Amino acid sequence: MNEIVEKIQQLKKEKNAVIMGHYYVPDEVQDIADYIGDSFFLARQATKIDADIILLCGVRFMGESAKVLNRDKRVLLPEINADCPMAHMATVERIAEVRKEYDDVAVVCYVNSTAELKAASDVCVTSANALNIVSKLPNKNIFFIPDQNLAHYIADQLPEKNFIFNDGFCHVHHSISKEQMEAAMAAKPQAKVCVHPECKTEVVAMADYVGSTSGIIKYVAESDAEEFIISTEMGVMHKLKQDNPGKKFYTAGNMQICPNMKKVTLEKVLEALESDSEGIQMSEELMNQAEAPMRRMLELA
Ligand code: SF4
Repeated sequence: MNEIVEKIQQLKKEKNAVIMGHYYVPDEVQDIADYIGDSFFLARQATKIDADIILLCGVRFMGESAKVLNRDKRVLLPEINADCPMAHMATVERIAEVRKEYDDVAVVCYVNSTAELKAASDVCVTSANALNIVSKLPNKNIFFIPDQNLAHYIADQLPEKNFIFNDGFCHVHHSISKEQMEAAMAAKPQAKVCVHPECKTEVVAMADYVGSTSGIIKYVAESDAEEFIISTEMGVMHKLKQDNPGKKFYTAGNMQICPNMKKVTLEKVLEALESDSEGIQMSEELMNQAEAPMRRMLELA
């Protein structure tokens, strides 16, 4: 293992590469990343990278976002088949239908989406900034894609807006049930409950804290409590345990693993650095169209 890590570090220097990783990739991959964060952090950081290669340890939509914001750089994914199913759970045809139906609609696109969906949208959001950004939009009608759960969480806090919902979901968060939460809370009644807004509304309603992965990390660090039930992807436990050695963490059920994020291994990181692949490729037109709503997000946030 150490040998692989040494080779990665050496090649990274030789090729002037920077490694960005999401909190959901395996622990050992998080440990070799130059930047580690959630989608919002990675998207913002991608605008400031000074390197020839960005090696994005995450799923495809993250690599696409980094490429759109860094046209002159090679953006590599260690595992090209690491793809987020939710990123595909909306269609440009449905967006066109909703635009016809509602004159003043704003199409709000969660960054966990393909470049094609972003390109057909007005503004992008992350789970960390969605409430802030949607509240700033002048439009009354909001078509929120692709995640229905995040949409409901934001809609509940903005009753002045009319939300049109899409039926996409993240299978990792959506699979956490109210019954699993009740059992976890009954077993550890003293624990504070942290829930990601990609979870179902009934699960979100049980939380002491609702927020993005980075929000949960911050909440735990600042809390006086010593025990926490964590309802998001389990990769975040690595950072939580590193930052809070005296605190205890529990899960609700055992299904909170994203199989696509876990496809990113150290061996694949090394292979990607060794390769001469051109990395993620998209047409200029698609990148231009996808960039506009992403830039709007960065300005509004
Ligand atoms: S955790 Fe959910 S939203 Fe994130 S990449 Fe996996 S399937 Fe997609």
